[in-house]
Amino acid sequence: MTLCFYCGEGTELTRGKIVILGEGRQLSMSPCARCADWMREGIILIGVVLGKSAKGWNDAPKTPEARAIWYPDPYRSGAIANMRDETFLKAFKAGPTVAFGLKKRWMFLEHGDGVKLGMWDALPTNP
Ligand SMILES: [Zn+2]
Repeated sequence: MTLCFYCGEGTELTRGKIVILGEGRQLSMSPCARCADWMREGIILIGVVLGKSAKGWNDAPKTPEARAIWYPDPYRSGAIANMRDETFLKAFKAGPTVAFGLKKRWMFLEHGDGVKLGMWDALPTNP
């Protein structure tokens, strides 16, 4: 089964880039219907814990074949939220990460930073 890269739910979508991440998870970079809605409404924030991430989670493979199915794969806390553009621009300082979020409509967010922002209020806070 292919999973939505953003929320991790199963999706029938197999178009667009498919990446294979840890434990053989096959993820579609094309958002599922819910994530596509969220991307139209705002920016998806995916909670991650860099301290629990596997060594080299952000190191691209050397060969083009391996790079073609790779994507940075930090440890995910399970938290996911959506933030409207105007709030996003107030919450984060302008820079490359914010530019990425605005363009791609998602970004990883350190779980602890999301706690400080009150992003995960309805979710467990100790991943
Ligand atoms: Zn999704």
